[in-house]
Amino acid sequence: MAVRILQTAGPSETESLGAQLAGLLRGGDLVLVCGELGAGKTTLVRGAARALGVRDPVTSPTFTIGNRYRADGLTVSHLDLYRLAGLEQEEPELLEDYVGPGLIAFVEWPEQGSPELAQARLQVTLSHDGGDRRRIEVDGSGSPAAGEPPAR
Ligand code: ADP
Ligand code: MG
Repeated sequence: MAVRILQTAGPSETESLGAQLAGLLRGGDLVLVCGELGAGKTTLVRGAARALGVRDPVTSPTFTIGNRYRADGLTVSHLDLYRLAGLEQEEPELLEDYVGPGLIAFVEWPEQGSPELAQARLQVTLSHDGGDRRRIEVDGSGSPAAGEPPAR
């Protein structure tokens, strides 16, 4: 899959798209989720997490940079880097608990050009398109994590 441009007409459609994308993922994969406030990033991650077997409610990380959720045979992590000035000013271990083997990580507000986030499997960019419509661009040109079977 190279770049695909889609449109959704409401939050449940964006969740469904997240669920479809989950089917492409395997342990170790990293998904960058871009777009302005309210574009639907967390909504898409919620749908994906649900499809991967997460039962707990998926909400924006507030007091930490990320949340971790137990899913079927792996861990789903959800990071929001909005409040970070830049990853290079942070401890190198910052992402260790959230990204790597056995984890599928979704990162909102990834900082462009940061080497830790260069290995993304997918990059999804959401934008407002009038009312409840959202334009969603899925760039699937990244490579899957090596050595782990598909999550689903
Ligand atoms: P972000 O994480 O990008 O800030 P959220 O997913 O937290 O965005 O919030 C998106 C808001 O927009 C929610 O209140 C959601 O119900 C609403 N919304 C309306 N239409 C859509 C749509 N098509 N896709 C996703 N969210 C939508
Ligand atoms: Mg969000």
